[in-house]
Amino acid sequence: MVEQISSADKRDTSNALFNRVKITEGLADPEKLWDVIIIGGGATGLGTALDAASRGYQTLLLEQIDFAKGTSSRSTKLAHGGVRYLAQGDISLVIEALHERGLMLKNAAHLVKNETFIIPNYEWWSGLYYTIGLSLYDLLAGKLGFGRAKHLSKKTVIKRIPTIQQKGLYGGVSYHDGQFDDSRLAINIAQTAIEQGATVLNYFKVTGLVKDARGKINGVITTDAETGKIYAVKGKTVINATGVFADEILQMDQPGEKAMLRPSQGIHLVVDKAFMPGEDALMIPKTSDGRVLFVVPWHDRLVIGTTDTPLKEHSLEPKALAEEVDFIIRTANQYLIKAPEHKDVLSMFAGLRPLAAPQDGSDKTKEISRSHKIIVADSGLITITGGKWTTYRKMAEDTVNKAIVVGKLTKQPVKTKSLLIHGSTPNVDRKNHLYVYGTDRDAVLALCKENKDWAQKLDPRAEFIGAEVIWAVRNEMARTLEDILARRVRILFLNARLAYDVAPKVAALIASELNHGADWELKQVTAFRALAKTYLLVPYPGKV
Ligand SMILES: Cc1cc2nc3c(=O)[nH]c(=O)nc-3n(C[C@H](O)[C@H](O)[C@H](O)COP(=O)(O)OP(=O)(O)OC[C@H]3O[C@@H](n4cnc5c(N)ncnc54)[C@H](O)[C@@H]3O)c2cc1C
Repeated sequence: MVEQISSADKRDTSNALFNRVKITEGLADPEKLWDVIIIGGGATGLGTALDAASRGYQTLLLEQIDFAKGTSSRSTKLAHGGVRYLAQGDISLVIEALHERGLMLKNAAHLVKNETFIIPNYEWWSGLYYTIGLSLYDLLAGKLGFGRAKHLSKKTVIKRIPTIQQKGLYGGVSYHDGQFDDSRLAINIAQTAIEQGATVLNYFKVTGLVKDARGKINGVITTDAETGKIYAVKGKTVINATGVFADEILQMDQPGEKAMLRPSQGIHLVVDKAFMPGEDALMIPKTSDGRVLFVVPWHDRLVIGTTDTPLKEHSLEPKALAEEVDFIIRTANQYLIKAPEHKDVLSMFAGLRPLAAPQDGSDKTKEISRSHKIIVADSGLITITGGKWTTYRKMAEDTVNKAIVVGKLTKQPVKTKSLLIHGSTPNVDRKNHLYVYGTDRDAVLALCKENKDWAQKLDPRAEFIGAEVIWAVRNEMARTLEDILARRVRILFLNARLAYDVAPKVAALIASELNHGADWELKQVTAFRALAKTYLLVPYPGKV
């Protein structure tokens, strides 16, 4: 067995390590030549930064907004091999993803958990069919398996999911997969990359590529969104890890080039746990229109999704379509006795899959392989696209291997298979919501001693405390109200009304830490509240 390396061994306990202003100083040297420059701070880019830095390469990552602002905060939160891909016969993708699922659980044990999923059977034959299929799924995971698939009696299914639709129910099948918190993992990967020596910056948009006389890329132009200062940075390799935005970077390289990607939207609804109490997740393998639907317990709520809707455009805040919402509510109604209605939706979020555009110009996104692709342009620009959150580490490994060739870097072996992610510990008490901080939990609690007010809940209706806000500003590079409420403490994704209500309090806490004035607070609250409204189906507050 490979010995696990703790990234924390290298940890600097001062805040300088995760301080954006301090990190920015590292960009000031115009002569600095980076081995690897990564554009995009989602799962793919951050994983690549971690891989490159841990191999000892001089690594810079630039994210235009905040880490995981794109698709990487909007997933179904599953660390999975993909039962659907097994059904589609994409065995190599399933094997790769199951292996990566196992490594994720080992290396980020505070955020990834082994979850039991139940497939209810409403046809006499489906119990046997899914037991065989899911036993194969478990077998493909090899030594990193999460647990055997089991056939369940009707009585057991009802006991474990008391709100399941019982009419026509024959029984069920249980199987195991992983469940995690996506944007929290992204932040922890960013921290680990920094601990490994990478320079990782949010609010730095790449606006141009720099080429030498032979047309080979040797740097990027980037703007600090906070100061407006423009930097030209030099690199031996440039990696485009911008998800659905990849075509925009490719256009900078080759203006007029045909679009490579076609976004496919998936939405999720978050509802109260009362609609499906218990610890197990529900998996509907084939909905009325042939899709897969999950109902997954997440931070004491339920995430229901997802859809697969081809779109012609992409944006940073994709909006759920009415038909997608109706589809999820209608399907949930078929399988749960007490099913949510529009008014019960606590939050609704949409994400975009960066899929390869079908060559025939069709809308058949469901059939497009989810495996990742690495493309090297004539200029040397490396683009990594597709894949899954679960396979971020392998995608990063393959990308850095490619960068070694393109940039003629001295070959170094991959380190991330056994590299612990910042915060990782198997000793987590999931009953206390602070478990997500892993090894940082005590440091978060210590802030409550520094200032008693920070020990107070942000709102009596929920578990989150002021210390988490301070922690995120000091140690997790959070810069705005949205960074905190969407991607550090997740309130926007769990309960958008609550996020709307706590906004002024959280803005005041951030302002006190970052020395912002009342003007900043007001602007932040106004912008955030406008965003929070778009995460709800029913107007809030009251009628508008
Ligand atoms: C609905 C849905 C559900 C999913 N569920 C799962 C799941 O349960 N499990 C799983 O394993 N996978 C899941 N996935 C897939 C997974 O979420 C994605 O594969 C992954 O998040 C993609 O990460 P990324 O880094 O490639 O893209 P993104 O997360 O979108 O990151 C790209 C980043 O690039 C930045 N950027 C863009 N342009 C610039 C620029 N000019 N300068 C600097 N930065 C820039 C963006 O701001 C963005 O943050 C799901 C996907 C969707 C859509």
